[in-house]
Amino acid sequence: MTSVDPTLRATRTTCPYCGVGCGVLATPDGSGGAAISGDPEHPANFGRLCSKGSALGETIGLEDRLLHPMIRCKGVLERVAWSDALDHVAHRLKHIIARDGAHAVAFYLSGQMLTEDYYVANKLMKGFVGSANVDTNSRLCMASSVAGHRRAFGADTVPGCYEDIDEADLLVLVGSNAAWCHPVTFQRMLANKQKRGARMVVIDPRRTNTAEDAELFLGLKPGTDTALFSGLLVHLADNGLLDRDYIEQHTTGFDEALMRARQIAGSVAATALATGLTEADVASFFKMFRETERVVTLYSQGVNQSAQGTDKVNAILNCHLATGRIGKPGASPFSLTGQPNAMGGREVGGLANQLAAHMGFTPPDIDRVRRFWKAPRIATHEGLKAVQMFEAIARGEIKALWVIGTNPAVSLPDADVAREAMKKLELFVVSENVRSNDTVEAGVHVLLPALAWGEKSGTVTNSERCISRQRSFLPAPGEARPDWWILSEVANRLGFGAAFDYKSAADIFREHAALSAFENNGNRDFDIGALTSLSDDAFDAMAPVQWPSREGAEPQARFFANGNFYANDRKARFVAPEIPALRSETNAGRPLRLNTGRIRDQWHTMTRSGLSPRLGAHLPEPFVEIHPDDANKYGVVDDSFARVTTDYGQCILKAVVSERQQRGMLFAPIHWSEANASSGRVGALVAPFTDPYSGQPESKVTPASITPYEYVFRGFVLSRKRIELPQSLWWARAAVTGGYAYLFADNADLTRWPNWLRAVSCDDLAEYRDFGGGVYRAASFAGDRIETCLFVGPAHDAGDWDVVKSLFAAVSLSDDQRRMLLSGRSTEGVVSTGPVVCACFGVGRASICDAIADGARSAADIGARLKAGTNCGSCIPELKRLIAQADTAIAPQPVAVAN
Ligand code: SF4
Repeated sequence: MTSVDPTLRATRTTCPYCGVGCGVLATPDGSGGAAISGDPEHPANFGRLCSKGSALGETIGLEDRLLHPMIRCKGVLERVAWSDALDHVAHRLKHIIARDGAHAVAFYLSGQMLTEDYYVANKLMKGFVGSANVDTNSRLCMASSVAGHRRAFGADTVPGCYEDIDEADLLVLVGSNAAWCHPVTFQRMLANKQKRGARMVVIDPRRTNTAEDAELFLGLKPGTDTALFSGLLVHLADNGLLDRDYIEQHTTGFDEALMRARQIAGSVAATALATGLTEADVASFFKMFRETERVVTLYSQGVNQSAQGTDKVNAILNCHLATGRIGKPGASPFSLTGQPNAMGGREVGGLANQLAAHMGFTPPDIDRVRRFWKAPRIATHEGLKAVQMFEAIARGEIKALWVIGTNPAVSLPDADVAREAMKKLELFVVSENVRSNDTVEAGVHVLLPALAWGEKSGTVTNSERCISRQRSFLPAPGEARPDWWILSEVANRLGFGAAFDYKSAADIFREHAALSAFENNGNRDFDIGALTSLSDDAFDAMAPVQWPSREGAEPQARFFANGNFYANDRKARFVAPEIPALRSETNAGRPLRLNTGRIRDQWHTMTRSGLSPRLGAHLPEPFVEIHPDDANKYGVVDDSFARVTTDYGQCILKAVVSERQQRGMLFAPIHWSEANASSGRVGALVAPFTDPYSGQPESKVTPASITPYEYVFRGFVLSRKRIELPQSLWWARAAVTGGYAYLFADNADLTRWPNWLRAVSCDDLAEYRDFGGGVYRAASFAGDRIETCLFVGPAHDAGDWDVVKSLFAAVSLSDDQRRMLLSGRSTEGVVSTGPVVCACFGVGRASICDAIADGARSAADIGARLKAGTNCGSCIPELKRLIAQADTAIAPQPVAVAN
């Protein structure tokens, strides 16, 4: 933790990671760092932060930051003045638009952007360039929820709020590993269970950490959520449990939807058959749902990331509409948003199929927005969604792309093809915080330095429609600028200066608020007209506010308890979903399905979270999880390596054998890229099939095969600076205290290492060589401090990485420690605590197992002894499992489960 001058004041801001939207207090230490704590007054978290939020202070350094504009000149990126970079971008855009038309240019944005930045990008492209080719990485995250909401409600409205989670009697989580991906909201669920006795059902092909606390876990076959909720709709209808008045007064299409549900899953038995669940489990779920008035169904990427994701969403919404359990305290469907400002992006129209302020491409909406913006050439139809957009780039139809704050070369499906497509662009602009990532390395022509979290100022909206301020508490480094400023400067150079004459984020927010209220009259859900006249000071001081915030109207926490939907007839639509079917088949060559998702302590492609030693300690290497029966069948051994191959690409990953994985399924996390690992970029493995309504890719069921991959040697390097490892290694990089760790595996002769080490380190070198035994260990020193340390040995005995890491973190080593270092064993005062389980307090598995052996019998016992699990609580399921394993006298196993 950074020590902080107590006279410095904390700044109230918002976490930049997930859609929970936790309030953060950031207190700068005056030398570039800051102390971070949860904001006790923020309604999303009331002071609590998860491991990622708690570690934000470790991610705000300037190492690897992009600090100046750069233009590629004769193949090399060179520093240029802002005016030259902006002139160049505007000149090239103008030329391409004049030659090929507005649809030859595109923006690819990010759910990490602030609403004000998003607003300006969308206005420039849709209102002034005249194309709707503006899409965002939110397309990969929750576009199916948007499409499902719009089909059912006539608008992209989240009907409930977080208080519903506190007040529900039944919490149904579908395709959501909230324990790891929305940890603070998950803690609210656990608090409800504890205080009020709420029950929890978890529906997921994987038995994730979220399932640990569930009364009922339904490990259904992938892609069958629609069948489960169709069966539920039939069950409710057949047992007289529908809210007939609500259906009659506020909805249409019920009969068709019920008829289709009967075709899909007309009974408990048919539902069990379709989903692969037991009839008893299906019946239990149906009973819990039908007997509980206060039900909140929460869903996330497991539902959204599907070629039938929109139908899945609508199958869930159908059940809530049919029972009138919507927009009532403790009773609502609830889409858990992945990114910090995916909701803000939806508000401004950051998706290619929305125009602005929750308006679409209907003639009245187009006309209204055109008049409001005084737009000279407003887009009149939807643009290309993310996957289509990159396909159009590959075909050469889109010739100019501006990427802002995201890393599509890693995160898009079929990512190798997307990366190659970017290399064909005539103009490729990237606004970024970092000097290098996989997208930048895909041949960027213009690199523009943007402000990062802690430096920028504006608003974000969380999953419950709550708008919060992100405030700057650090000065802008180098020549970095806000995204809205960069976009406005280009707009000005394109000849649209009068419409982009913003002086501050507050200016933009006021305009955004005014558009939301413009000719609204209660006909559109998104209305923050009450905030249109905020002064600059009031914007600075703005407390979290939930929308709608209509001028002269009472606050409204929920929608639709009394109908009043946003279709022209003000009624909701039941949707008859298609018969569930995955877009791809397995076959003899690809007998498994690859699921992808997040892990607890990393975020997206790690450009921020990867800077934190605490976060890097939990799961430092890219891995694939496989069921023991499949591991047996395919010869894969726990803690060894495996090659995962799909029709799109291949990766070599650490193998984790776990019964938490369903037979026939693999799971691999999405976070590793070519910037931080040799072979962990799983986006390159994912099929590019998309949902017909939302355009969201099916990222969780790509047909795959797995084969064991063997390395003779394993090892690690710890270094004060980033280094280049010898060719042909398998490696993954993680931040550690005082530098970087490279975990590697290798098949080459050991004799190459001494020369390599001498080339990257200083002269004071200690070595231990046993080439015959397959061991080489060495460390170089600057005074009493380790500069570089290399351990390589047989796969089963590469040395205790946790001990060496502790010694590397020390400012100086004693003579004894220095002597013992190359033994790789504990020295006095440096005891290996094993892999980190509790990231908040850095508590390792060995310490926890010791506490259990010493009599700790509950997570609370462990918390009392070691503090583990007492902050964000994300590791509590893991603590419980270690206790259970000890109880059944099974040795603790590595745990690597994620969303
Ligand atoms: Fe940030 Fe964690 Fe809160 Fe999400 S749950 S907003 S990652 S602190």
